[in-house]
Amino acid sequence: MNNSLRQNPSPLCEAAWREIDLSAIASNYRAIRAAIAPGTKIFACLKQDAYGCGAGKVAALLSAEGVDAFGVVSIADALAVRKAAPGRPILLYPGIGPNAVDLVRDLDLTISISGEEDLASWLATGASLKVFVKVDLGFWRGGVAPCNLRRLMDLCTSESNVAVDGLYAHLSEFGDAGSSTSAQVARLTPLIEGLKAEGRLPATVMVSSSESLLSHPEFDMDAVDPGALLFGLTRSRTGRRALPTRLALSAIKARIVALKTCHDSMGAPPGLPGYHPAMRLAVLGIGWGHGVPRNLGSSASVLVRGRRAPIIPPIHLEHLRIDVTNIPEATLGDEAVLLGSSRADRITLPELAEAWNTDETGVGCGLRESLRRIDVAPQSNPNQEEGE
Ligand SMILES: *Cc1c(COP(=O)(O)O)cnc(C)c1O
Repeated sequence: MNNSLRQNPSPLCEAAWREIDLSAIASNYRAIRAAIAPGTKIFACLKQDAYGCGAGKVAALLSAEGVDAFGVVSIADALAVRKAAPGRPILLYPGIGPNAVDLVRDLDLTISISGEEDLASWLATGASLKVFVKVDLGFWRGGVAPCNLRRLMDLCTSESNVAVDGLYAHLSEFGDAGSSTSAQVARLTPLIEGLKAEGRLPATVMVSSSESLLSHPEFDMDAVDPGALLFGLTRSRTGRRALPTRLALSAIKARIVALKTCHDSMGAPPGLPGYHPAMRLAVLGIGWGHGVPRNLGSSASVLVRGRRAPIIPPIHLEHLRIDVTNIPEATLGDEAVLLGSSRADRITLPELAEAWNTDETGVGCGLRESLRRIDVAPQSNPNQEEGE
């Protein structure tokens, strides 16, 4: 067998794949860039493999667009971004500890410091460190409590091999926490003023990610670190900034890899939901091993030749079954659409998210690495005319 073929099969050979419209990411980035002040930096948050879109490719694209810096959590994402974007600052959100100090130095990463213990553990490595101090303004997750920020800043600045380049927070914005976005930012204001008065304010102060970018332009500060917004995934539609963003994840598709009319020579039907005699059953080459929820119910469907075919649970590791009795023209090798358009019909991301019992971000971030990414052009992205 031809070796290059075996190692890099054509997308046409795949039984299942996701389609990514990289041009949507570039255009979302430009929309953010155009909306904020020219001096405000953009840290592109590419965590979770760029929300499922592929951290390396997205980093290369945004680097070419002139993005200022990146934010990631995992080593894998830091490696992919560094390879694609040599020389750009990369901020590590809380997640990687001092046992990764060699990588932090080799990849020239900026670490987050969320408390005194955290700082002490990194200082114990003896390495020179570039640091962003993270403060918890009400997310109740990473970051130092505001009452301890001054002391942590004092400790950091007294260390000769620690450079405090930034001060940042991640805001809680979905009403599931106690305080409003404004109340959270108000906790930071006096601290910023105090540090400024002493000439000790780090060069970059940053609190705004996707939702506050849309709803609170006044919180842009020195930099913003949107993630979801870059991929067209945002929950608020009522923000003060109406940015014309587009979805980057444009489709999830699988081929029909087996097809038959059920017959009692196969034995008693195994209690399939919706089973009826002479049911025409198709098998798709996608399963929970690719990220389809294992407990998906029988109300979910896919599109084949523009028509809805119900999914027959349970979902298997590499396969799922659909009922194509009412689509007699369905044939082996047909594309089935889990997300996206098929002729005049379309399964939207909100519809799929609801069927998968998650949200729009959850769909892309829940897909596994085994589901190949295919780049598609904007004209085949059904989500682009909607302007969201
Ligand atoms: C996830 C994350 C972001 C990006 O959040 P979005 O809501 O996706 O824009 C920014 N900063 C931190 C620290 C994060 O963890």
